[in-house]
Amino acid sequence: MNTPTPSFLQGRCTLVGAGPGDPELLTLKAVKAIQAATVLLVDDLVNPEVLAWARPTARIVHVGKRGGCKSTPQSFIEKLMITAVREGETVVRLKGGDPFIFGRGGEEVEHLREAGIECQVINGITAGLAAVTSLGVPLTHRDHAQGVVFVTGHARTGAASQHDATDWRALAATARDARLTLVIYMGVAGVAHIQQQLLDGGLPGATPVAVVQQASLPGQRQMTSTLAALAADLHAAGMGSPAVIVVGDVLRGVAAAQQDATRFGT
Ligand code: SAH
Repeated sequence: MNTPTPSFLQGRCTLVGAGPGDPELLTLKAVKAIQAATVLLVDDLVNPEVLAWARPTARIVHVGKRGGCKSTPQSFIEKLMITAVREGETVVRLKGGDPFIFGRGGEEVEHLREAGIECQVINGITAGLAAVTSLGVPLTHRDHAQGVVFVTGHARTGAASQHDATDWRALAATARDARLTLVIYMGVAGVAHIQQQLLDGGLPGATPVAVVQQASLPGQRQMTSTLAALAADLHAAGMGSPAVIVVGDVLRGVAAAQQDATRFGT
């Protein structure tokens, strides 16, 4: 492979996880990177409050689809990053949660590397972690779950690209047999399909489920349900993106606590 020689002007590029929303969940490293940036490219799900750490002179480019705009094509974002680094800027690419969990961070790092630019990556707290913790339950528990699967619900069976369809039935069987918690990102739109496939794959209808919208933000909402009632309950609650769907026995305590609260009118 022909790697272009970096020019002496070359700046720096850092992919920074901005966490799930609450600015206090930023890492110290993330704050330092934001403070040092001369150019910030900011994704959709990044809470604008984290930009309070940026220099007043920093150029801030929003590349998300909030506010009804179409999201900026990935190739354009990458071009912007490459150009800015070559111009000697200190570029920070801010992504919601962790850059390497469904954030296309991997693609960006690869494309920048192909252009001769090495990116540093700073972890962020991924939405699924914050969502489950906010419910007061652990993702793993010796008695209920031996592991966790972070999975995207965005690609449904029949999607154009073959390798992005999730095999929900296989996942259901594995989650049941190996006792795994499922944390489903981008699953709201396809919830009825996901629910049916998980049931067909052998996860019991009584398996506890929770949906957490806007985890860690002031507008956080959550509901608990069972796998059998998931789609109906989610629609009845009027919940939407961004939300994670959590499936597994670690949620038993939450469901019970909520039932008690209803029973005792608290
Ligand atoms: N890199 C991000 C995920 C990007 S994919 C991370 O690590 O968190 C976008 C999906 O993340 C959303 O569709 C939703 O499922 C989830 N998500 C992001 N922020 C969220 C939040 N504050 N609360 C609940 N889900 C969130």
